[in-house]
Amino acid sequence: MGGELRDAADGGTFETVDPSTGEVLASVPQAGGVDVDDAVASANRAQPAWDRLGVRGRREYFEQLGAAIEERATELAMLDAIDAGNPYTAMLRDVGFALASLKDWPALALGLTGDVVPEASPGKNLHYTLYEPYGVVARIVPFNHPVLFAINSVLPPLIAGNAVVMKPAEQTPLSALAFGELAAEVLPPGVVNVVSGGAETGDALVTHRDIKRIAFTGSTATALKIQRRVAEFGLKHLSFELGGKNAMIVFPDADVEAAVAGAVNGMNLTVCQGQSCGSNSRILVHAQAYDAFLEGLRARFEAIRVGPAYAPDVEMGPLVSAAHRDRVLGYIASGKAEGARLVAGGGVPRGANGGYFVEPTALADVSMEMRIAREEIFGPVVSVLRWTDYSAMLEQANAVEYGLTASIWTNDLSVAHRTAQRLDAGYIWINDTSKHFFGTPFGGTKNSGLGREESMEELVSYCEQKAVHAILQDPEDALARIA
Ligand code: NAD
Repeated sequence: MGGELRDAADGGTFETVDPSTGEVLASVPQAGGVDVDDAVASANRAQPAWDRLGVRGRREYFEQLGAAIEERATELAMLDAIDAGNPYTAMLRDVGFALASLKDWPALALGLTGDVVPEASPGKNLHYTLYEPYGVVARIVPFNHPVLFAINSVLPPLIAGNAVVMKPAEQTPLSALAFGELAAEVLPPGVVNVVSGGAETGDALVTHRDIKRIAFTGSTATALKIQRRVAEFGLKHLSFELGGKNAMIVFPDADVEAAVAGAVNGMNLTVCQGQSCGSNSRILVHAQAYDAFLEGLRARFEAIRVGPAYAPDVEMGPLVSAAHRDRVLGYIASGKAEGARLVAGGGVPRGANGGYFVEPTALADVSMEMRIAREEIFGPVVSVLRWTDYSAMLEQANAVEYGLTASIWTNDLSVAHRTAQRLDAGYIWINDTSKHFFGTPFGGTKNSGLGREESMEELVSYCEQKAVHAILQDPEDALARIA
């Protein structure tokens, strides 16, 4: 923070673990209230000069940051493999996505102009608007894409002229801290500050008096806590990217093979073991395609090579912690107990050796009364439901508290577009899953979130809008003087 690497003021630390083995990797500073105060203060000091640089000036720093990240890309990806358990090759792709974002945000920000509002009182006033940064923005991120979220979370507030204090997840702090080191080498001191720690550190950050804007990515339960908590400290602008129980709908005319491939891809098993907010963890398949779909899913799930995240040829790593593995196994047990049929996986693979592995798991004949149909599992588990009646299926698809993504598989485009209109979800794919497109607003409805990211909407959300009204004097006197 403030351009320096330092320990917690009170010397506090916590351990982070390699989920592929269960062994402790490192002790990491546990930032307390004093550290959060210092981080916010250094961000406050750095922000005015950062703002004065303008988008073009900040873009030059983004270019330098991109070069520094590229140089250490393999190290950052390996830190995620050992700390989060995500396969190394997938994390190298995540670094690539972050590098693309470093170019995309300045390009978008150059288009963030204020408006002139001519019709307010023509001729007598000039009305215009300005976008101004908040000052210091707090960003809190989860464990599933550590380096990607660490980098991508700071870019939009930064390009809008804010300084940032970012907190990574306590399970996966290493790549964010390495990124913080890079940022300290390249950016003016205090523009980016990384504070490691858990819920208490996050609480100190969101309740800080100088933080007016908070963007949080994580679970709905934590978002609700933050919403309640910050209300005690005045008005703050909040945005939330939260969980999902995302419906994938397969119509009878769908290309089943493509739908199976889309389902496997959309679960992000080979990126983060299905610990993914947007994954299609609830699949509603028409009766005519049901058996073929399940058979395809079984074959593909069973072919996935599970093992240590940094070993060559491994496609899927372990879950992030022992507690989370146990939670996911608990959901599988509850599904079976409630009458679901196990089609693939269901347990811990052989040779787990202390790692937190769970097999890619598919449960069929699921009904909406089961917990595995309604609750976010956040792991390598899909629940498959069979349908025959369109209206009943649609009702089921919408009958969860979440509304993040959805995916529709049919060759009838009228059906596809009409279904997209009727689904409660913020981001919908037709005959595809998983992909994000920069510039297209990403975010959830219902308890999946507030606000939109990856787009102009997100950029604007890091700015206050100011309206300016200037009186235009009657020009006759001035014109007479000229004459
Ligand atoms: P989590 O809510 O437990 O933790 C997320 C972050 O919040 C962590 O950094 C944590 O330390 C911090 N935190 C915890 N308690 C806090 C508090 N009281 N005050 C402030 N900060 C606090 O979530 P998780 O288990 O790390 O992540 C999984 C969740 O994130 C899933 O629900 C998933 O769907 C969601 N997620 C959403 C998106 C999205 O873009 N919509 C992306 C990734 C993950």
